[in-house]
Amino acid sequence: MLIALLLAVEAALKPYVKYDGAALALEHVRVIDGTGAAAREDQTVYIVSGKIAAAAPAGAQRIDLRGHTVFPGLVGMHDHLFYPAGGGVFHEMATSFPRLYLAGGVTTLRTTGSIEPYTDIEIKRDIDRGLVPGPEIWLTGPYLEGDIPWTEQMHRLHGPAEFRRTVDYWADQGATSFKLYNFLTREELAAAVDEAHKRGIKVTGHLCSVGFTEAARLGIDNLEHGLFVDTEFYSGKKPDVCNAREASLELAQMSPTDPRLAALIKELVQRKVAITSTLPVFAAFTEEGFRKALSPPVLEALSVETRARLLANHVSRPDATALFKLEVAFERAFVQAGGLLLNGCDPTGNGAVVAGYGDQRGVELLVEAGFTPLEALRISSWNGALFLGQEKRIGSIAPGKDADLVVVKGDPSKEIADVEKVEIVFKSGVGYDPAKLAESVRGLVGIR
Ligand SMILES: [Zn+2]
Repeated sequence: MLIALLLAVEAALKPYVKYDGAALALEHVRVIDGTGAAAREDQTVYIVSGKIAAAAPAGAQRIDLRGHTVFPGLVGMHDHLFYPAGGGVFHEMATSFPRLYLAGGVTTLRTTGSIEPYTDIEIKRDIDRGLVPGPEIWLTGPYLEGDIPWTEQMHRLHGPAEFRRTVDYWADQGATSFKLYNFLTREELAAAVDEAHKRGIKVTGHLCSVGFTEAARLGIDNLEHGLFVDTEFYSGKKPDVCNAREASLELAQMSPTDPRLAALIKELVQRKVAITSTLPVFAAFTEEGFRKALSPPVLEALSVETRARLLANHVSRPDATALFKLEVAFERAFVQAGGLLLNGCDPTGNGAVVAGYGDQRGVELLVEAGFTPLEALRISSWNGALFLGQEKRIGSIAPGKDADLVVVKGDPSKEIADVEKVEIVFKSGVGYDPAKLAESVRGLVGIR
Protein backbone atom coordinates (compact mmCIF):
# COMPACT_ATOMS: atom_id res chain seq x y z
CA MET A 1 0.00 0.00 0.00
CA LEU A 2 2.73 2.44 1.04
CA ILE A 3 4.87 1.47 -1.96
CA ALA A 4 1.92 1.95 -4.30
CA LEU A 5 1.32 5.43 -2.85
CA LEU A 6 4.99 6.41 -3.22
CA LEU A 7 4.99 5.30 -6.87
CA ALA A 8 1.84 7.32 -7.49
CA VAL A 9 3.50 10.36 -5.90
CA GLU A 10 6.49 10.04 -8.11
CA ALA A 11 4.38 9.69 -11.24
CA ALA A 12 2.29 12.77 -10.44
CA LEU A 13 5.18 15.10 -9.69
CA LYS A 14 7.85 13.73 -12.02
CA PRO A 15 7.01 15.92 -15.03
CA TYR A 16 7.94 19.01 -12.99
CA VAL A 17 11.01 17.71 -11.18
CA LYS A 18 14.60 18.48 -12.23
CA TYR A 19 16.50 16.97 -9.28
CA ASP A 20 15.25 14.39 -6.79
CA GLY A 21 18.41 12.66 -5.63
CA ALA A 22 18.62 11.66 -1.95
CA ALA A 23 21.94 13.52 -1.71
CA LEU A 24 22.88 16.64 -3.67
CA ALA A 25 25.78 19.10 -3.58
CA LEU A 26 25.08 22.57 -4.95
CA GLU A 27 28.61 23.69 -5.81
CA HIS A 28 30.20 27.09 -6.45
CA VAL A 29 27.00 28.88 -5.54
CA ARG A 30 26.55 32.31 -3.94
CA VAL A 31 24.55 31.97 -0.71
CA ILE A 32 22.12 34.55 0.69
CA ASP A 33 21.12 32.78 3.89
CA GLY A 34 17.97 34.81 4.61
CA THR A 35 19.05 36.18 7.99
CA GLY A 36 20.18 39.47 6.50
CA ALA A 37 23.85 38.40 6.59
CA ALA A 38 26.06 39.34 3.62
CA ALA A 39 26.11 37.06 0.58
CA ARG A 40 28.89 34.44 0.63
CA GLU A 41 30.63 33.56 -2.63
CA ASP A 42 31.58 30.14 -4.01
CA GLN A 43 29.90 27.96 -1.38
CA THR A 44 28.67 24.38 -1.39
CA VAL A 45 25.16 23.69 -0.08
CA TYR A 46 24.43 20.03 0.71
CA ILE A 47 20.99 18.47 0.63
CA VAL A 48 20.52 15.06 2.23
CA SER A 49 17.11 13.37 2.49
CA GLY A 50 15.22 16.64 2.08
CA LYS A 51 17.25 18.60 4.64
CA ILE A 52 20.13 21.03 4.35
CA ALA A 53 23.22 19.20 5.60
CA ALA A 54 26.76 20.12 6.69
CA ALA A 55 28.19 17.49 4.33
CA ALA A 56 27.02 14.85 1.87
CA PRO A 57 28.05 11.25 1.24
CA ALA A 58 30.64 10.67 -1.49
CA GLY A 59 28.06 9.58 -4.05
CA ALA A 60 26.03 12.82 -3.90
CA GLN A 61 24.91 14.29 -7.20
CA ARG A 62 26.97 17.43 -7.87
CA ILE A 63 25.36 20.46 -9.51
CA ASP A 64 27.69 23.21 -10.73
CA LEU A 65 26.01 26.53 -9.95
CA ARG A 66 28.71 29.00 -10.95
CA GLY A 67 27.05 32.36 -11.68
CA HIS A 68 24.02 31.43 -9.59
CA THR A 69 22.68 32.40 -6.18
CA VAL A 70 20.67 30.38 -3.70
CA PHE A 71 18.34 31.94 -1.10
CA PRO A 72 15.65 30.49 1.19
CA GLY A 73 12.24 29.68 -0.23
CA LEU A 74 9.91 32.66 0.10
CA VAL A 75 7.27 32.58 2.83
CA GLY A 76 4.27 34.29 1.24
CA MET A 77 2.21 35.81 4.03
CA HIS A 78 -0.69 37.19 1.97
CA ASP A 79 -0.94 34.59 -0.75
CA HIS A 80 -4.55 33.76 -1.53
CA LEU A 81 -5.61 30.79 -3.64
CA PHE A 82 -8.25 32.87 -5.47
CA TYR A 83 -8.26 35.63 -8.06
CA PRO A 84 -10.71 38.46 -8.87
CA ALA A 85 -12.99 37.98 -11.86
CA GLY A 86 -14.26 41.57 -11.58
CA GLY A 87 -17.48 42.92 -10.07
CA GLY A 88 -16.85 41.52 -6.58
CA VAL A 89 -16.62 37.93 -7.86
CA PHE A 90 -13.67 35.68 -7.06
CA HIS A 91 -12.60 32.42 -8.69
CA GLU A 92 -10.59 29.77 -6.90
CA MET A 93 -7.31 29.12 -8.77
CA ALA A 94 -7.01 25.55 -7.50
CA THR A 95 -4.89 24.40 -10.45
CA SER A 96 -2.79 27.37 -11.47
CA PHE A 97 -1.89 29.22 -8.26
CA PRO A 98 -0.18 26.43 -6.27
CA ARG A 99 2.08 25.74 -9.26
CA LEU A 100 2.78 29.42 -9.97
CA TYR A 101 3.59 30.15 -6.34
CA LEU A 102 6.07 27.28 -6.28
CA ALA A 103 7.53 28.28 -9.68
CA GLY A 104 8.03 31.80 -8.34
CA GLY A 105 10.06 30.56 -5.37
CA VAL A 106 7.30 30.51 -2.72
CA THR A 107 7.79 27.28 -0.75
CA THR A 108 5.49 28.22 2.15
CA LEU A 109 2.38 30.37 2.12
CA ARG A 110 -0.43 31.54 4.34
CA THR A 111 -3.76 31.85 2.50
CA THR A 112 -4.72 34.94 4.56
CA GLY A 113 -8.47 34.73 3.95
CA SER A 114 -10.37 32.13 2.01
CA ILE A 115 -13.26 32.31 -0.45
CA GLU A 116 -13.54 28.51 -0.79
CA PRO A 117 -12.18 27.19 2.51
CA TYR A 118 -13.05 23.56 1.76
CA THR A 119 -11.24 23.79 -1.59
CA ASP A 120 -8.19 25.30 0.12
CA ILE A 121 -8.20 22.40 2.59
CA GLU A 122 -8.28 19.81 -0.20
CA ILE A 123 -5.55 21.61 -2.18
CA LYS A 124 -3.33 21.46 0.89
CA ARG A 125 -4.10 17.77 1.38
CA ASP A 126 -3.27 16.92 -2.22
CA ILE A 127 0.01 18.84 -2.04
CA ASP A 128 0.92 17.20 1.29
CA ARG A 129 0.18 13.76 -0.22
CA GLY A 130 2.38 14.51 -3.23
CA LEU A 131 -0.47 14.37 -5.73
CA VAL A 132 0.00 17.91 -7.07
CA PRO A 133 2.95 20.30 -6.93
CA GLY A 134 2.70 23.34 -4.67
CA PRO A 135 4.04 25.09 -1.58
CA GLU A 136 3.44 24.12 2.03
CA ILE A 137 0.11 25.76 2.83
CA TRP A 138 -0.94 27.40 6.11
CA LEU A 139 -4.72 27.59 6.00
CA THR A 140 -6.54 30.73 7.01
CA GLY A 141 -10.26 30.25 7.62
CA PRO A 142 -12.96 32.00 5.61
CA TYR A 143 -13.04 35.78 5.98
CA LEU A 144 -14.58 36.78 9.31
CA GLU A 145 -16.84 39.56 8.11
CA GLY A 146 -20.12 41.35 8.84
CA ASP A 147 -22.45 43.03 6.37
CA ILE A 148 -20.14 43.53 3.41
CA PRO A 149 -22.13 45.12 0.56
CA TRP A 150 -19.95 44.33 -2.46
CA THR A 151 -19.66 40.54 -2.56
CA GLU A 152 -21.87 37.55 -1.76
CA GLN A 153 -18.89 35.22 -1.51
CA MET A 154 -18.25 36.03 2.13
CA HIS A 155 -20.67 34.66 4.70
CA ARG A 156 -22.04 37.60 6.72
CA LEU A 157 -21.67 37.08 10.45
CA HIS A 158 -23.60 38.94 13.13
CA GLY A 159 -22.69 39.32 16.78
CA PRO A 160 -19.77 38.09 18.90
CA ALA A 161 -21.26 34.62 19.45
CA GLU A 162 -21.42 33.92 15.72
CA PHE A 163 -17.80 35.06 15.26
CA ARG A 164 -16.77 32.68 18.06
CA ARG A 165 -18.70 29.73 16.58
CA THR A 166 -17.18 30.33 13.15
CA VAL A 167 -13.65 30.40 14.57
CA ASP A 168 -14.26 27.14 16.41
CA TYR A 169 -15.80 25.37 13.45
CA TRP A 170 -13.00 26.23 11.01
CA ALA A 171 -10.25 25.66 13.55
CA ASP A 172 -11.70 22.13 13.86
CA GLN A 173 -11.45 21.78 10.06
CA GLY A 174 -7.75 22.71 10.11
CA ALA A 175 -7.53 26.51 9.89
CA THR A 176 -4.33 27.70 11.57
CA SER A 177 -5.13 31.42 11.34
CA PHE A 178 -8.07 33.78 10.79
CA LYS A 179 -8.55 37.08 9.02
CA LEU A 180 -11.00 39.74 10.14
CA TYR A 181 -12.31 41.99 7.41
CA ASN A 182 -13.89 45.40 6.79
CA PHE A 183 -17.36 45.54 8.35
CA LEU A 184 -17.37 44.42 11.97
CA THR A 185 -17.56 45.85 15.46
CA ARG A 186 -14.85 46.07 18.09
CA GLU A 187 -16.88 43.65 20.18
CA GLU A 188 -16.95 41.08 17.35
CA LEU A 189 -13.24 41.56 16.70
CA ALA A 190 -12.42 41.03 20.37
CA ALA A 191 -14.59 37.89 20.52
CA ALA A 192 -12.91 36.35 17.44
CA VAL A 193 -9.42 37.14 18.75
CA ASP A 194 -10.26 35.70 22.18
CA GLU A 195 -11.72 32.50 20.75
CA ALA A 196 -8.74 32.00 18.40
CA HIS A 197 -6.19 32.70 21.14
CA LYS A 198 -7.84 30.10 23.38
CA ARG A 199 -6.87 27.59 20.70
CA GLY A 200 -3.38 29.00 20.19
CA ILE A 201 -4.30 30.48 16.81
CA LYS A 202 -3.22 33.92 15.54
CA VAL A 203 -5.55 36.48 14.00
CA THR A 204 -4.83 39.03 11.33
CA GLY A 205 -7.05 41.66 9.78
CA HIS A 206 -7.64 43.74 6.71
CA LEU A 207 -9.64 46.15 8.82
CA CYS A 208 -11.73 49.19 8.03
CA SER A 209 -14.45 49.71 10.67
CA VAL A 210 -11.89 49.22 13.45
CA GLY A 211 -8.69 51.29 13.54
CA PHE A 212 -5.22 49.84 14.00
CA THR A 213 -4.66 51.20 17.52
CA GLU A 214 -8.03 49.86 18.69
CA ALA A 215 -7.34 46.45 17.13
CA ALA A 216 -3.86 46.28 18.66
CA ARG A 217 -5.34 46.99 22.09
CA LEU A 218 -7.95 44.25 21.52
CA GLY A 219 -5.16 41.73 20.94
CA ILE A 220 -4.91 41.28 17.15
CA ASP A 221 -1.60 39.68 16.10
CA ASN A 222 -1.10 41.02 12.58
CA LEU A 223 -2.42 43.78 10.31
CA GLU A 224 -2.57 43.33 6.54
CA HIS A 225 -1.57 45.96 3.96
CA GLY A 226 -0.23 48.52 6.45
CA LEU A 227 -1.32 52.12 6.78
CA PHE A 228 -3.22 52.10 3.45
CA VAL A 229 -6.27 50.58 5.13
CA ASP A 230 -6.07 52.22 8.57
CA THR A 231 -9.09 54.50 8.98
CA GLU A 232 -8.27 55.78 12.46
CA PHE A 233 -6.91 59.12 11.23
CA TYR A 234 -10.02 59.99 9.20
CA SER A 235 -11.54 63.22 10.55
CA GLY A 236 -15.06 61.79 10.24
CA LYS A 237 -14.22 58.41 11.86
CA LYS A 238 -17.16 56.89 13.74
CA PRO A 239 -16.68 53.84 15.98
CA ASP A 240 -17.35 50.52 14.20
CA VAL A 241 -18.10 52.23 10.85
CA CYS A 242 -16.10 51.66 7.65
CA ASN A 243 -15.54 54.70 5.44
CA ALA A 244 -12.73 53.30 3.31
CA ARG A 245 -12.89 55.72 0.41
CA GLU A 246 -13.15 58.93 2.45
CA ALA A 247 -10.45 57.75 4.84
CA SER A 248 -7.98 56.95 2.09
CA LEU A 249 -8.57 60.29 0.33
CA GLU A 250 -7.59 62.06 3.55
CA LEU A 251 -4.74 59.66 4.27
CA ALA A 252 -3.17 60.54 0.91
CA GLN A 253 -2.65 64.07 2.31
CA MET A 254 -0.90 62.89 5.48
CA SER A 255 2.79 63.64 6.03
CA PRO A 256 5.10 60.66 6.72
CA THR A 257 6.52 62.70 9.64
CA ASP A 258 3.09 63.21 11.27
CA PRO A 259 3.64 62.44 14.98
CA ARG A 260 0.46 60.33 15.08
CA LEU A 261 2.25 57.77 12.89
CA ALA A 262 5.19 57.50 15.26
CA ALA A 263 2.75 56.94 18.13
CA LEU A 264 0.93 54.21 16.18
CA ILE A 265 4.20 52.48 15.31
CA LYS A 266 5.30 52.57 18.96
CA GLU A 267 2.01 50.99 20.05
CA LEU A 268 2.22 48.23 17.40
CA VAL A 269 5.83 47.38 18.21
CA GLN A 270 5.18 47.32 21.96
CA ARG A 271 2.22 44.98 21.48
CA LYS A 272 4.18 42.81 19.01
CA VAL A 273 1.65 43.29 16.19
CA ALA A 274 3.21 42.32 12.84
CA ILE A 275 2.45 44.21 9.62
CA THR A 276 2.13 42.44 6.27
CA SER A 277 3.48 44.46 3.36
CA THR A 278 1.46 43.91 0.18
CA LEU A 279 3.08 46.46 -2.11
CA PRO A 280 2.37 44.56 -5.38
CA VAL A 281 -1.42 44.90 -5.14
CA PHE A 282 -1.19 48.63 -4.41
CA ALA A 283 1.58 49.37 -6.92
CA ALA A 284 -0.70 47.94 -9.62
CA PHE A 285 -3.08 50.87 -9.08
CA THR A 286 -0.44 53.26 -10.45
CA GLU A 287 0.17 53.51 -14.20
CA GLU A 288 3.80 52.43 -13.92
CA GLY A 289 3.07 49.68 -11.40
CA PHE A 290 0.32 48.23 -13.58
CA ARG A 291 2.63 48.08 -16.60
CA LYS A 292 5.43 46.44 -14.61
CA ALA A 293 3.07 43.89 -13.02
CA LEU A 294 1.84 42.72 -16.43
CA SER A 295 5.23 41.41 -17.52
CA PRO A 296 5.36 39.08 -20.56
CA PRO A 297 5.24 35.86 -18.45
CA VAL A 298 2.27 37.21 -16.47
CA LEU A 299 0.40 38.02 -19.69
CA GLU A 300 1.07 34.46 -20.87
CA ALA A 301 -0.22 33.01 -17.62
CA LEU A 302 -3.56 34.83 -17.96
CA SER A 303 -6.51 33.39 -19.85
CA VAL A 304 -7.32 35.17 -23.12
CA GLU A 305 -10.48 36.67 -21.66
CA THR A 306 -8.79 37.80 -18.43
CA ARG A 307 -5.94 39.44 -20.34
CA ALA A 308 -8.38 41.34 -22.56
CA ARG A 309 -10.45 42.46 -19.58
CA LEU A 310 -7.43 43.74 -17.67
CA LEU A 311 -5.98 45.64 -20.58
CA ALA A 312 -9.35 47.18 -21.49
CA ASN A 313 -10.61 48.16 -18.03
CA HIS A 314 -7.57 49.32 -16.16
CA VAL A 315 -8.06 52.65 -14.38
CA SER A 316 -5.29 53.96 -12.18
CA ARG A 317 -6.36 55.59 -8.92
CA PRO A 318 -5.42 59.30 -8.79
CA ASP A 319 -4.31 59.11 -5.15
CA ALA A 320 -2.37 55.86 -5.59
CA THR A 321 1.08 57.44 -5.93
CA ALA A 322 0.76 59.62 -2.80
CA LEU A 323 -0.61 56.71 -0.75
CA PHE A 324 2.15 54.45 -1.98
CA LYS A 325 4.86 56.90 -0.86
CA LEU A 326 3.27 57.20 2.57
CA GLU A 327 2.95 53.42 2.94
CA VAL A 328 6.57 52.85 2.01
CA ALA A 329 7.75 55.45 4.57
CA PHE A 330 5.51 53.81 7.19
CA GLU A 331 6.92 50.33 6.53
CA ARG A 332 10.50 51.55 6.76
CA ALA A 333 9.81 53.42 10.03
CA PHE A 334 8.00 50.36 11.43
CA VAL A 335 11.01 48.11 10.76
CA GLN A 336 13.43 50.72 12.08
CA ALA A 337 11.42 50.82 15.33
CA GLY A 338 11.82 47.04 15.68
CA GLY A 339 8.50 45.96 14.12
CA LEU A 340 8.11 42.59 12.38
CA LEU A 341 7.30 43.22 8.70
CA LEU A 342 6.03 40.27 6.63
CA ASN A 343 5.60 40.12 2.86
CA GLY A 344 2.86 38.81 0.58
CA CYS A 345 1.68 39.57 -2.93
CA ASP A 346 -2.13 39.63 -2.45
CA PRO A 347 -3.31 38.52 -5.91
CA THR A 348 -6.54 40.55 -5.84
CA GLY A 349 -7.03 44.27 -6.56
CA ASN A 350 -7.36 44.98 -10.27
CA GLY A 351 -6.08 41.52 -11.26
CA ALA A 352 -2.56 42.54 -12.30
CA VAL A 353 -0.98 40.57 -9.45
CA VAL A 354 -0.53 36.87 -10.17
CA ALA A 355 0.74 34.13 -7.83
CA GLY A 356 4.53 33.75 -7.78
CA TYR A 357 5.28 36.59 -10.18
CA GLY A 358 3.60 38.91 -7.70
CA ASP A 359 5.76 37.58 -4.86
CA GLN A 360 8.94 38.29 -6.85
CA ARG A 361 7.63 41.78 -7.56
CA GLY A 362 6.99 42.14 -3.82
CA VAL A 363 10.66 41.54 -3.02
CA GLU A 364 11.67 44.08 -5.68
CA LEU A 365 9.20 46.65 -4.37
CA LEU A 366 10.67 46.39 -0.85
CA VAL A 367 14.02 47.33 -2.39
CA GLU A 368 12.38 50.20 -4.27
CA ALA A 369 10.94 51.16 -0.89
CA GLY A 370 14.46 51.62 0.47
CA PHE A 371 15.30 48.27 2.06
CA THR A 372 18.55 46.61 0.99
CA PRO A 373 18.18 43.43 -1.11
CA LEU A 374 19.37 41.36 1.87
CA GLU A 375 16.76 42.99 4.13
CA ALA A 376 14.04 42.49 1.52
CA LEU A 377 14.86 38.78 1.28
CA ARG A 378 14.94 38.41 5.07
CA ILE A 379 11.52 40.08 5.34
CA SER A 380 10.22 37.70 2.64
CA SER A 381 11.56 34.48 4.20
CA TRP A 382 12.88 34.62 7.77
CA ASN A 383 10.26 37.05 9.11
CA GLY A 384 7.38 34.93 7.81
CA ALA A 385 8.90 31.79 9.31
CA LEU A 386 9.26 33.59 12.63
CA PHE A 387 5.62 34.73 12.65
CA LEU A 388 4.45 31.20 11.83
CA GLY A 389 6.62 29.83 14.65
CA GLN A 390 8.52 27.73 12.10
CA GLU A 391 11.91 29.47 12.24
CA LYS A 392 13.69 26.35 13.50
CA ARG A 393 12.65 24.50 10.34
CA ILE A 394 12.38 27.04 7.49
CA GLY A 395 13.15 30.69 6.63
CA SER A 396 16.95 30.56 6.38
CA ILE A 397 19.73 28.38 5.00
CA ALA A 398 21.39 26.34 7.75
CA PRO A 399 22.20 22.66 8.32
CA GLY A 400 19.28 20.70 9.72
CA LYS A 401 16.60 22.88 8.14
CA ASP A 402 14.22 21.81 5.39
CA ALA A 403 15.86 22.16 1.97
CA ASP A 404 13.42 24.84 0.77
CA LEU A 405 15.65 26.80 -1.57
CA VAL A 406 15.46 29.06 -4.61
CA VAL A 407 18.26 28.97 -7.18
CA VAL A 408 18.45 31.98 -9.50
CA LYS A 409 20.83 33.04 -12.20
CA GLY A 410 22.77 36.19 -11.28
CA ASP A 411 23.16 38.00 -7.97
CA PRO A 412 20.05 39.45 -6.30
CA SER A 413 22.23 40.90 -3.51
CA LYS A 414 23.34 43.44 -6.15
CA GLU A 415 20.52 43.33 -8.73
CA ILE A 416 17.21 42.51 -7.07
CA ALA A 417 15.44 41.86 -10.40
CA ASP A 418 17.51 38.65 -10.54
CA VAL A 419 14.95 37.11 -8.14
CA GLU A 420 12.87 36.63 -11.30
CA LYS A 421 15.52 34.41 -12.95
CA VAL A 422 14.49 31.27 -11.07
CA GLU A 423 16.06 28.05 -12.36
CA ILE A 424 15.32 25.54 -9.58
CA VAL A 425 12.97 25.62 -6.61
CA PHE A 426 13.71 23.02 -3.94
CA LYS A 427 10.90 22.06 -1.61
CA SER A 428 12.00 19.56 1.05
CA GLY A 429 14.92 18.69 -1.19
CA VAL A 430 12.91 18.02 -4.36
CA GLY A 431 14.15 20.35 -7.11
CA TYR A 432 11.28 21.61 -9.28
CA ASP A 433 11.62 23.13 -12.74
CA PRO A 434 9.83 26.52 -12.66
CA ALA A 435 9.47 26.67 -16.45
CA LYS A 436 7.64 23.34 -16.55
CA LEU A 437 5.36 24.30 -13.67
CA ALA A 438 4.43 27.57 -15.40
CA GLU A 439 4.02 25.92 -18.78
CA SER A 440 1.58 23.37 -17.32
CA VAL A 441 -0.89 26.15 -16.39
CA ARG A 442 -0.26 28.66 -19.14
CA GLY A 443 -3.41 30.61 -20.01
CA LEU A 444 -5.32 29.25 -16.99
CA VAL A 445 -5.18 32.23 -14.61
CA GLY A 446 -8.71 33.58 -14.40
CA ILE A 447 -10.23 30.17 -15.18
CA ARG A 448 -8.95 27.65 -12.61
ZN1 LIG B 1 -6.10 39.86 0.68
